[in-house]
Amino acid sequence: MASANDVRVRFAPSPTGRLHVGNVRTALFNWLFARQRGGRFILRIEDTDLERSRPEYERHIYEDLKWLGLTWDEGPDVGGPYGPYRQSERLQLYREAADRLLQSGRAYRCFCTPEELDAERQRAKAQGLPYVYSGRCRRLTSDEVALKLNQKKPFTVRFRVEPGLITWTDLVRGRVEWQAELLGDFVIMKSDGWPVYNFAVVIDDMAMKITHVIRGDGHLPNTPRQIVLYRALGGSPPQFGHLSTILGPDGTKLSKRHGATSIGEFRERGYLPEALFNFLALLGWSPAGGSEILSREELIGQFSLDRVVKAPAIFDVGKLNWMNRHYLRQMDRERLIDLAARYLVKANRLEDGPLDDATRRWLGLVLDAVITHLDTLAQVVEETEIVFEYDLDRASQSEEVRQTLEDEGALQVIEALREELADVSEVTVEAFQRATRAVKERTGRKGRALFHPIRIALTGRPSGPELVKLIPIYEMGSRLNLPAPIPSVSHRLDAFLQYATHWRRRGR
Ligand code: GLU
Repeated sequence: MASANDVRVRFAPSPTGRLHVGNVRTALFNWLFARQRGGRFILRIEDTDLERSRPEYERHIYEDLKWLGLTWDEGPDVGGPYGPYRQSERLQLYREAADRLLQSGRAYRCFCTPEELDAERQRAKAQGLPYVYSGRCRRLTSDEVALKLNQKKPFTVRFRVEPGLITWTDLVRGRVEWQAELLGDFVIMKSDGWPVYNFAVVIDDMAMKITHVIRGDGHLPNTPRQIVLYRALGGSPPQFGHLSTILGPDGTKLSKRHGATSIGEFRERGYLPEALFNFLALLGWSPAGGSEILSREELIGQFSLDRVVKAPAIFDVGKLNWMNRHYLRQMDRERLIDLAARYLVKANRLEDGPLDDATRRWLGLVLDAVITHLDTLAQVVEETEIVFEYDLDRASQSEEVRQTLEDEGALQVIEALREELADVSEVTVEAFQRATRAVKERTGRKGRALFHPIRIALTGRPSGPELVKLIPIYEMGSRLNLPAPIPSVSHRLDAFLQYATHWRRRGR
């Protein structure tokens, strides 16, 4: 009986593109299962598709998994007892296994040309039948084979499938049955001497002592093929669990349209790895308690394949945004500052390079003011325009700003405020509040009639974060060394009054 520590699962991506929601959900479920059972999580790179595999995609796979914290115990980069972990480096093993099957008669060489096979396929199609290889080369005598080999005829190696019922108990779907006759004698080695996916996977899963194969249900038709190969090779199949498809909320195949992109793109857009981790874990699985915000540790503790559902999982980007907001709001402040700074540097709001203490402290205030408006970190650029941009020409395109420019009473408020602050060297929140109280008395205006013109004059916008949050941001910001200077409160009041004079003289 295997002990819990023997659990060995693998994530086996092909480096033919960036990792997407589906692949990474598979990686995550394998990882959670391994971590929970104290097992091993193995990364195997399936690069037998020579034309489509690229080393840079392999690099991205490492980066994306690391970013999500899906660390592996064995893999091409870290090694392990059953390496190499890249299929292109394991060709010898596949060839030897194919030879063994040829010798025992469980496999045979097929010399059918692509044209002949195509003709078979067309015939099946014309009769409305699913295509199954006719088995023509099964019947070749050893002399015929020797002759063709002598003539250097190209050949594939096919597995001889015995009729019967293939069954397994799927960890997600329960009992699955497959009629072997529907498989036909399938190819295991191509004519170029490379294995097909189904063959390489079985050789590797056996050699790497994989106990559980958890993967997407797109692989369901491969499983009966793999099971018969295991048996022919004298191994016992691992346990299989096929995860349901992921669909968009409209029930159609998941795509970019639903906001599902590559993991790299989620990262660039400013999703936090802990949010994506939590979100992906709930794609097809739910905890017994029903709560949705779960830390990495809670997920490891609670995950179980029993609660993985057969029904398609729905990818809802709104829910992902909600989770991301949650994690953004509770994240460590210094980390938030560092991550947000990257977006602001890219937008040329901040200088590149390490932030000095004053800028860090200031950025912390900026983030406090806008954090509740952010779904993702990338939105920090747009949401902080109110901090970095003060452009009255642009502002005056808004009707509300124009009304203020034309409202005598509103301008009196700004003038009075300017006077109250004339001798204040740094406008603190207290100084601002004192000054607005005085303005209230002087002008008789209160509430919105008082504060709306002040907001418009200071920010150039009719709405935004609370003024008491913006005041210190403007004041401190005006003393920092930024790519574009930030005007202080007094500068803003002056600029607005000047602009208003100009505006009125010129006529709107
Ligand atoms: N390379 C296969 C894929 O990316 C792995 C499938 C499997 O897990 O067996 O789909």
